Amino acid sequence: MPNKRFILSKPKSSITDVATLGVTKEDFIDDFKQYYVHSLGRDENFRSSPFYACEALSLAIRDRLMERWKTTHKTYNKMDSRRLYYLSMEFLMGRTLSNAMLNLGVTDEVTRAMHELGIVIEELVDRELDAGLGNGGLGRLAACFIDSCATLQLPVVGYGLRYEYGMFTQTIVNGEQIEKPDHWLRYGNVWEVERLEYSLRVKLGGHTEIQTDEQGRQRVCWISTNDVLAVPFDTPIPGFKNNTVNILRLWKAVATEEFNLDEFNAGGYAESVAAKVTAEHITMVLYPNDANENGKELRLRQQYFLASASLQDVIAHWIRQHGHDFSNFAKKNCFQLNDTHPSIAIAELMRLLMDVHGLSWTAAWGITGQTMAYTNHTLLPEALEKWPVQLMRRLLPRLMEIIFEINAHFMSEVAARWPGDRARLSRMSIIEEGTEQQVRMAYLAIVGSFSVNGVAQLHSQLLQQGLFRDFYELWPYKFNNKTNGVTPRRWLASCNPELAALITETIGDGWITHLDDLKKLEPYAEDAGFRNRWREIKQRAKQRLAEYKRQQQEGTDLSPEALFDVQVKRIHEYKRQILNVLHVIHLYDRIKRDETQNWVARCVLIGGKAAPGYAMAKRTIKLINNVAKVVNSDPDVGDKLTLFFLPDYRVSGMEMICPAADLSEQISTAGKEASGTGNMKLMMNGALTIGTLDGANIEIREEVGDENFFLFGLTEEQIEARRQHYDPVAIIDQDEDLQRVMNLLESGHFNQFEPGIFDELIASIKSKYDPWMTIADFRSYIDAQKRVETAYQDKDHWTRMSILNCANSGKFSTDRTINDYNRDIWKLEPVPVQYP
Ligand SMILES: *Cc1c(COP(=O)(O)O)cnc(C)c1O
Repeated sequence: MPNKRFILSKPKSSITDVATLGVTKEDFIDDFKQYYVHSLGRDENFRSSPFYACEALSLAIRDRLMERWKTTHKTYNKMDSRRLYYLSMEFLMGRTLSNAMLNLGVTDEVTRAMHELGIVIEELVDRELDAGLGNGGLGRLAACFIDSCATLQLPVVGYGLRYEYGMFTQTIVNGEQIEKPDHWLRYGNVWEVERLEYSLRVKLGGHTEIQTDEQGRQRVCWISTNDVLAVPFDTPIPGFKNNTVNILRLWKAVATEEFNLDEFNAGGYAESVAAKVTAEHITMVLYPNDANENGKELRLRQQYFLASASLQDVIAHWIRQHGHDFSNFAKKNCFQLNDTHPSIAIAELMRLLMDVHGLSWTAAWGITGQTMAYTNHTLLPEALEKWPVQLMRRLLPRLMEIIFEINAHFMSEVAARWPGDRARLSRMSIIEEGTEQQVRMAYLAIVGSFSVNGVAQLHSQLLQQGLFRDFYELWPYKFNNKTNGVTPRRWLASCNPELAALITETIGDGWITHLDDLKKLEPYAEDAGFRNRWREIKQRAKQRLAEYKRQQQEGTDLSPEALFDVQVKRIHEYKRQILNVLHVIHLYDRIKRDETQNWVARCVLIGGKAAPGYAMAKRTIKLINNVAKVVNSDPDVGDKLTLFFLPDYRVSGMEMICPAADLSEQISTAGKEASGTGNMKLMMNGALTIGTLDGANIEIREEVGDENFFLFGLTEEQIEARRQHYDPVAIIDQDEDLQRVMNLLESGHFNQFEPGIFDELIASIKSKYDPWMTIADFRSYIDAQKRVETAYQDKDHWTRMSILNCANSGKFSTDRTINDYNRDIWKLEPVPVQYP
């Protein structure tokens, strides 16, 4: 019998009707104190407890996001808006607090509120740990994208995994990388909201059977599975001053209850608890491999877990809104796959539509092929994902059946178009034959998607002519380019407030959402007063970086007078950090030989993480540190040249680095860097690029003009032509500078007490088969660095170029990128949100 006490007559108002929260200084002071004292139970001075002060402020800010989020969600549902779901194994978000304040438009009020309480806001902001749920460019792109989607008022949900441990923390001991686990949730995460009520089950293992349902239809059932619960955690993603708050939904793996209970009844209590741990392994850790697949079973579990939970979530929402009629599903929903990592979603959508919701193959395939879109991020063969058929059959038996069937349909389409072309069939098959059959995930992604895009013009062109040539011939209309970008909110407005203020004072604040406006700065490049202010701001950013470095590591200081020459990115052979080191050794050699006329003091900063299993990358870090030790401790060198390795490169680190950079090193082998985005962040903050014709460098040079860009190196075509008869030893023999550099390296000058440690590294660049052809670009690189020095000596000229780089960076806003995606692929209507 129901308890009468709780049966109410008509409620006077809904429990979710609450007063709108204010955003004045007084409102923030009140709320801050409320959280600090009442919720967090602190009574000591704020200053002595900066962690809790940061927590209290974050909660106050979160409240403001929460109510806008609720309104946004209601608006989308009421409008029945078409939506885009961005599926990504990585979201490299970094910190949230300062970005949330900026986008809510409350930075000034909050700063004054904190000031009144005797708190310096920067100190609070610096307490926050980075959410490092990504490796590098691909994960950061996802983070920039969802910022732009919210700013452009697009109904977009980001779906990813809530890894317990993000990207490892890097420390350097004796010049070598040491990895420490990044337990970023250690002190909790105020920005996330757990939504247990939307938990879902994900199947793994088991086998399939054909059963007949109540209507007498045959259906495939996937049974005897080991299920795992997917629990969503939502993070609000605010647009810039527009009241839109979208969500990022990250899944956590949790053991199911009855899974434990069965074991418990069988008497295996301890085993049941242990099994719980196994289920929860799925979202324990981010794989720290950038541009390198590693084929581990746990990784496939993660991928399927993301795909299945996200699709079930979208379908459950669909059914709540539209019932079981899927005829309009493709009209209202679209999925963007961030690389092949979540591409098992193609087979999973087929499974859910057929096995769970009773659609025919034809109907399900029609929907899948109209809703899935795939972004490729790399041409490197070692990064192309393949999964053994055997493994997939064991882990995902139903998915494997569906993939075979997709391939059978696809193979007949190819056979019909090119009768008798057996070679083409085997080239294009989703299943690679061989001693071990493998599933080619990129091919599955192309076959199941209506759009396939690369991330810069050159990259998209190379996909069509090379890697995906056969597919381009079959379906040219599927292929398109979407040049990457970065969000100007984080990468200029927030990370470089002084420069942002100067820009706003000069041209107004429209640039924050219309970055092409920066073009209006161009005439000011000729204004001496403006140039001075520009230069002073850069100088102060350099001092701050020097100060930060002084706090982190003792030893030689950075001199803010020197040219700050920056290469920060993952350590990888194709990115050629070694070429940078060869140049440093060349400069060192010139100093030692007293060849220092018109010298430009230079401070070379290199930062980045190596994948823990990538020996050559780790050895490169050791080389950088060893060369740094020799160069920095040589009294002959002094201030003329310093080299530093910046440990633990991450998003918050980059926010400190890019305002301080003079020169941006983008020196990958032409044809290997799909786009790059670090190049864009640095350009936006007024760094000049020294770079090859690779990835988005090409478009950066187009925008800023050749006279404001230091170009060097072979083109992609020249690289591929040269490869056949590449002879690095002959090149060394013909170049005295390079000879001296190689002699220093080979003589053990940088590893006097560590014999032989660089032998393999040296051998790799001297090999005729060096895929990255580092030696081929040495001379051209050294000459370009000479041009850099000449340019830097003329301070006015350099500052003019710096201003022009910023002024012409408008194209590289993710607002432009997302508008391109939306116009060509997603076709969403912007949905303004009325608030309050
Ligand atoms: C932007 C960014 C990257 C990507 O840098 P690239 O130079 O494009 O490889 C990687 N890591 C972090 C932390 C970044 O902010």
